[in-house]
Amino acid sequence: MTKITGILGHPVAHSKSPELHNGWYQKQNLDFDYQSFDVPSTKLAQFFSELPNNLRGLSITVPHKENVRQFLSTESEAVQTIGACNTIIRNLETGSLHGENTDWQGWLAAIKQQSSINLSTATILVIGAGGAAKAILYALKQADASSVSITNRTFAKAVQLAKQFQFKAQSLSEINNQFELIINCTSLGLKADDPSPVPQELITQQTTISDLIYTPTKLEQICQEQGATYINGYHMLLEQAKLQHKLFTS
Ligand code: NAP
Repeated sequence: MTKITGILGHPVAHSKSPELHNGWYQKQNLDFDYQSFDVPSTKLAQFFSELPNNLRGLSITVPHKENVRQFLSTESEAVQTIGACNTIIRNLETGSLHGENTDWQGWLAAIKQQSSINLSTATILVIGAGGAAKAILYALKQADASSVSITNRTFAKAVQLAKQFQFKAQSLSEINNQFELIINCTSLGLKADDPSPVPQELITQQTTISDLIYTPTKLEQICQEQGATYINGYHMLLEQAKLQHKLFTS
């Protein structure tokens, strides 16, 4: 019987995941089908009570990365530390659900592939303090990063994350140093007219910007003008999806 996988979120129509996963299934001649499950939070419990017998795995996106944890039988240490699950693997025999997080691994793979930055010695600024920021901070911890500052619009959240990951919180107004790597983990850039989340004076020819957003943004445009290195969020999306593919089909 065809094994079903898919993306669970709300909304999901914009997602590039079905194209990626179904492309791999076709290329490798696998009897799998990747579908889109657009489920609002109010219908999440019903969705999990009616999972089809041939469902093998799910990619989880906004706004369910935290909420799905209540339906899992087991979860990885990364899911527990990050507090968010972006991948569910279902045991086809027992029906039990295991939670994983491939976002942090996908980001690490992408940054290694797209830059020569030494994360353990680089000066790094993380902007944002939501679920994606936590995955990046976890990745930075795994990579032994030692000089990491966190900033966020709601500064109290940056302070809380700095405490959890033993990094430093810095408000944007008090920053007067340059960073080798700046990571945009905010949702700024999703909308075409969003402003850049990174102050222009922090972007020089020596700066590398890793943006989690993968549509064209104001930040990308400024990087081009300033001669900075810009790494688009598509690389992370692709690398984390490759890891999900391995988990779903192994
Ligand atoms: P989230 O939990 O909702 O967090 C959003 C973050 O953006 C918060 O820090 C929030 O600050 C900040 N923010 C929102 N609007 C802002 C504004 N107008 N000005 C300044 N800061 C603002 O979302 P998330 O799950 O962390 O995801 C963040 C982004 O990463 C999303 O766009 C998502 O699509 C992207 N993402 C990409 C990948 C990939 O593979 N490329 C993977 C995961 C996530 P406050 O705390 O002050 O609200």
